[in-house]
Amino acid sequence: MTICIIGGGVAGLALAIGLHQQGIDCEVVERDKDWKVYHVGIIVQANFIRALNVLGVGEAATKAGYAYRGARFVDVNGKVIAELPGETAVDGLPSDLGLTRPALHKVLTDKVKELGIPVRLGVTFTAMQDYGDHVELGFSDGTSGSYDLVVGADGNYSAVRKALWPDAKPQFTGQGVWRYNVPRPAGLEWSDIYLGNGHNGFNGKAGYCPLTPEEMYIFAVVEEKGNPRFAPETLADEMRARLAGYGGLLGEAAKAITDPALVVYRPLEACIMPDPWYKGRVVLIGDAAHSATPHLGQGAAMAVEDAVVLAQELGERGIEEALRAFMQRRFERAKLVGTSSIQLGEWEMHPEQAGDPVEVTSRIRQKLAEPV
Ligand SMILES: Cc1cc2nc3c(=O)[nH]c(=O)nc-3n(C[C@H](O)[C@H](O)[C@H](O)COP(=O)(O)OP(=O)(O)OC[C@H]3O[C@@H](n4cnc5c(N)ncnc54)[C@H](O)[C@@H]3O)c2cc1C
Repeated sequence: MTICIIGGGVAGLALAIGLHQQGIDCEVVERDKDWKVYHVGIIVQANFIRALNVLGVGEAATKAGYAYRGARFVDVNGKVIAELPGETAVDGLPSDLGLTRPALHKVLTDKVKELGIPVRLGVTFTAMQDYGDHVELGFSDGTSGSYDLVVGADGNYSAVRKALWPDAKPQFTGQGVWRYNVPRPAGLEWSDIYLGNGHNGFNGKAGYCPLTPEEMYIFAVVEEKGNPRFAPETLADEMRARLAGYGGLLGEAAKAITDPALVVYRPLEACIMPDPWYKGRVVLIGDAAHSATPHLGQGAAMAVEDAVVLAQELGERGIEEALRAFMQRRFERAKLVGTSSIQLGEWEMHPEQAGDPVEVTSRIRQKLAEPV
């Protein structure tokens, strides 16, 4: 069996490692010739570490990040409302981890290089023809290839998804997320989520999360009516404005948001594909199949879990059966994360109709601790 993985991000690299474990040949094509990722922080939970551990890189990821105790919900002044301590899924490894996206990228790319998996950088597909028992691809470097299976792991704006499902597009959810890295105060061992939720004019929520012994990142998830674009030189002022009024550690830390070039702003755009995520011999994984908003911090975990499960199923059965089994194990779980994340954002924008975000977050964390 030979598999072409389109996209060398979290899902694609995790799948390449998983397929190698199963003795299945694959190659990765990655559009970005520099194979770069944003310098942003990401937060991950026990199910992510468990999935990476299956791939043999759980320890490396833990060393590359900063383990913390879990999530706390606090009021706008930093007073603790609820603690959700993490529970480890792997003895000796942590439950909750903050790490930079480049650090995670290095863990995955180092492993792919160590295993000798072929990766072609600066290349994408330009033609795709499914013959039922194989797929022929043409590439932007003028080459072509024949594969038993093609995997679209090309992220939220997936060209593979567009080729197969031209009407499926990420939709703006109404909110945007602002991120900025600042020094980590000594002793900070929690990710704190300040629930603005419409009280006294607060829009959405904000907080911070440890990333390394020296760094943490601040985030603000707020409604951005009309999906505005911001001039790059205004980004630090815009982000600070969204944090105005928050007290506690967040209020203090926000003063360090001064360099507009270091602010990462993203409008939230989600696309949750219906079952199945495959047509013939082409399958989507990761954000290409189910991009959610960051409210549950599960995007990377869902991508790695997809990869682990798809590799396991392909190692055990034929392609058609493996794809069906993959959907059975993945669809409801990824859909739960996606729809709940979007729901949490809706509640933040319409606090008068809101349910209990602490209950939802806690219930889903417990659900995701169950084996995949
Ligand atoms: C700013 C930001 C912060 C985030 N924070 C968190 C967080 O805290 N916790 C969390 O769990 N998740 C977080 N996420 C989400 C998480 O990064 C994604 O869910 C995860 O990366 C999905 O993995 P993926 O492989 O599907 O997509 P990606 O990691 O985006 O990888 C897709 C890859 O495909 C390549 N590609 C795209 N198009 C093509 C093409 N046509 N041909 C070839 N290659 C192509 C891209 O260059 C990229 O390398 C965050 C995302 C962003 C943008």
